[in-house]
Parts: sequence; C-alpha cells; structure tokens
Amino acid sequence: MIAPAKRVLFWFTRDLRLHDNAALLWAAQRAERLICVYCIDPAWFRLNNFGSSRLGRHRRRFLAETLGSLDKSLQALGQQLLVVRGAPCATITKLIDRYGIGAVVRSQHNGVYESRQWQILQQKHPALAFKELPTYTLFNPEQLSTLHRLPATFTAFRKQLEPIAPSQPADPPGHLPPPLPVGTASIDAAIEGLQICDCAQSPFKGGEARGLQHLQSYFAGASPQTYKQTRDQLQGWEQSTKFSPWLADGSLSVRQVSAELQRYETRHGANESTYWIYFELLWREYFQWYAQHHGSGLFRSRGIGRRKPLTTFYPQRFKQWCKGQTPWPLINACMAQLNQTGYLSNRGRQLAASCLVNELSVDWRCGAAYFEQQLIDYDMAANWGNWQYIAGVGADPRGGRHFNIDKQTRLYDADGAFVERWTTPAASYPLDSVDAADWPIAPPSPESETGP
Ligand SMILES: Cc1cc2nc3c(=O)[nH]c(=O)nc-3n(C[C@H](O)[C@H](O)[C@H](O)COP(=O)(O)OP(=O)(O)OC[C@H]3O[C@@H](n4cnc5c(N)ncnc54)[C@H](O)[C@@H]3O)c2cc1C
Repeated sequence: MIAPAKRVLFWFTRDLRLHDNAALLWAAQRAERLICVYCIDPAWFRLNNFGSSRLGRHRRRFLAETLGSLDKSLQALGQQLLVVRGAPCATITKLIDRYGIGAVVRSQHNGVYESRQWQILQQKHPALAFKELPTYTLFNPEQLSTLHRLPATFTAFRKQLEPIAPSQPADPPGHLPPPLPVGTASIDAAIEGLQICDCAQSPFKGGEARGLQHLQSYFAGASPQTYKQTRDQLQGWEQSTKFSPWLADGSLSVRQVSAELQRYETRHGANESTYWIYFELLWREYFQWYAQHHGSGLFRSRGIGRRKPLTTFYPQRFKQWCKGQTPWPLINACMAQLNQTGYLSNRGRQLAASCLVNELSVDWRCGAAYFEQQLIDYDMAANWGNWQYIAGVGADPRGGRHFNIDKQTRLYDADGAFVERWTTPAASYPLDSVDAADWPIAPPSPESETGP
C-alpha cells in the first residue's frame, strides 16, 4: 500500500520537456507513484470579446507535436502522459479524488487565470501538499531579491541583472516513478481534438527533441556571429535564432539556451552579436517579471498607466488589418506571413502593431488578442507586454512607438522582395468604405460637393 503523500500528480503546463525541469525532478525524487497530466482547456477555443480565440491553428499543430513527443520521452522512462480535454481545476480535482493523490506539483505560472486556478485547487484541497517551482525564466525569484521592486524600464532592469549569472539548467531525471493505473488510452484521440491543420511546410516542428536539435544546429553555424546585424531583417531562417516557439511552450528551456550561448562564447569568443542574443533573452525575462508584477494590468486598455489611449474599435479597419488588406503593402505582407505561417519577425510585429494603433486608431488589445490566436510562439507576457510598449501604455519611457511605414519600407524592403513574396503587389485596399457603425459611406453627390 502506497501512502497517499507518495502519490503525486505532476501537472505539465508551459514546461513540456524533461531537460531542465526542476519541478518534474522535484516530483520524481519524492513520489512512489506519479501521474503526469496535461489539460487542454476548452476555454482556449472559445471566441473572446475581440472575436479571436486563444489557440489558433498554427499553435494547435505545434502543441499536438509537442505533446506526442513528450509522451514518447515519458514512455522511455516507464511513464505516460495523460492528456485530458477539460477545465483544469475540475480535471485535476477528479484525478485527486479518484487516485487518492497526496501532492500536486507544477511549474510556476505568471498568468492571472493560471494563478487563480492554482489558488482554487489549494482552497479545495487544504489537506494536500502543493508545490510550484520556477522553470520558465532565466533567474529564480531569490536571485531577484536585490531588485526591491520591478524597475520601471527595461534598461534599469537589464543593468541590475547583467552582473548576476542566470541559474544553471537542472539535470533531466534519470528515472521516473511508475504511473498510477490511469488506463492505457493513447493520447492520439485527445490530440486529434486539436483539429490539426496541414502545415507540413512549416520549419517549426514541435517537441523537445526538435527544440534541442534546433538549439544545437543554430550554435553549430555562423549565424550567432552576425545576429545583431541581421535581427531586424524581415525574413530569412538565419536572420534571428527562431527559438521562440519552443521557448513559448517550454519544450526548450531558456536556461538551456543561455548555457549553450555561454559555451558558444567560450569556444568561439564573445562579440556584440552574441551579447545581443543574451540582451533579447533579458527582454523576455523582463516581460515575464513585468507580467507577474502587473497581473491583470497586462490586459487593461490603459495598460499600466493612468490614461486611456485615444483609440477605439473600427470593425472594418480591424478586419482589413487582420486579413492584410490595408493601404500599406508592407503591413499586408507582414499579416500574410503571420496568417500563413504563424511566425513574424520582430520588426514585422512592431510595424504591424504600430500600424494598427497609430495609422488605424484601433484599440491595441484587439491586435494583441489577434496575435495571441495567430502566433505559433505566443507567450502571454511577451505578447501583451510588447503590445503595451508599442501602444504607449506600457514600459516604454518614450511613451510608445510610431513607425513611419514608408521609411521602414525603404529601409527593410527597398527591392520589394518581401512584399512580393507574401502578397499580390498590384492589389489596392482603400480604407473606410463603411462608417464606424458599419454603414456604407455613399460617394458624395454633385450637389453636396458644389453647395447651394
Ligand atoms: C507586438 C509584438 C508581439 C510579440 N509577441 C511575442 C510573443 O507572443 N511571443 C514571443 O516569444 N515573442 C513575442 N514578441 C517578441 C519578438 O518579436 C519574438 O520573440 C521574436 O521575433 C521571435 O523570434 P526569434 O526567436 O528568432 O527571436 P530572436 O530575435 O532570436 O530572440 C531570441 C529570443 O529572445 C526573446 N525575445 C526576443 N525579442 C523579444 C522581445 N521584444 N520581447 C520578449 N522576448 C523577446 C524570445 O524568446 C526569442 O526567441 C513580440 C514582439 C512584438 C513587437
């Protein structure tokens, strides 16, 4: 008979890996029997107030591949992944009750809903042990105790963190405790429910093994030497690291990336470009702690500031932007790339976001919600934090970014290759053929033009 305290439920969330997973390691070292579960929340498929869902087709496919890969890795250690489609609190409660679970373990999560779910579970099961460990960030909270409060700007944050070494990755578990008898149902049925699209062309294949492989191959090539010069380009596989989809669902650990970068610098020497990769990882880090600090402020129209921006909701303009049918060919190409692949370069994201807010005067949250649906690398903190930054309601000391689209076109697509790759250049899309209430705007009559 196994003591209930030794029956542990491990709840996988954004840590879909075995390497550098301190939370899984903690559970493995204490459990005699272990259930590994992942919940596909039906709420991810519902349309939100902005007309988009939380999990679009590109990420659904990537997630399905990741879960399949994780299940295989667990099976190699005598375990299995239970994938359940259901609301997390109800699903975990059912498992706790059915299998007499004594402890629940997961990685720390900075999301508002996810933190609330954790609290609800603790309140429902006061006799159980609950344990969370940080696995999504470069630094552990104790290492940040010198930051008495989150600096208001990224620059201040970066300067305080640069002298501190990030945490080293944890070892993968050598073995895992055997599973409780949850049944041998294959995860295929649950994964099929993700309604996977046919994205065979995508260079992004989900799963820990693919993520680690990509990490190795990136640092085996010459691209890290020129990262700073190429990062702002609009396209090209080698133009930036492309780590983001794996980092976002946790099939690749950010500490593993940082450790690999350090090894690269030891072997080949550090330069401005290798430093710049770390600089971008610090941006990611900043937004993670920013999300933790500001909670639901991340989703408010006025952001973390006091004043609401002077934007509103124009249904037609928003629809045109989503479809890539604006008067600006460069923006249309960016949106076409996003819609077709789920990926967009950082510069492309900045331009599309600036256009929605500054040129089209649409509420930034509509754009952030649309990106949440479309991006293959959607990360709550990075997405909503960057949108706030561009919209001038976030951590930008300059109060927002307004990109001049013509100038950006000359700088980054002077030969028109990017626009040509993603769009039909001759197409033209005027704005506002309907008014704000969706009524057609009639062409002015000759009388009204000349007047009495
Ligand atoms: C409006 C907008 C929305 C964004 N939404 C997301 C998102 O949902 N998920 C996401 O991972 N990134 C987001 N970013 C940040 C950035 O555009 C992507 O991380 C980057 O383009 C991913 O490609 P890469 O892995 O080749 O990045 P690289 O340039 O190679 O950077 C390396 C890593 O650093 C991190 N990083 C780089 N730039 C940023 C940044 N500005 N903010 C936070 N982290 C950064 C990412 O983890 C990235 O993988 C957004 C940026 C903007 C302007």
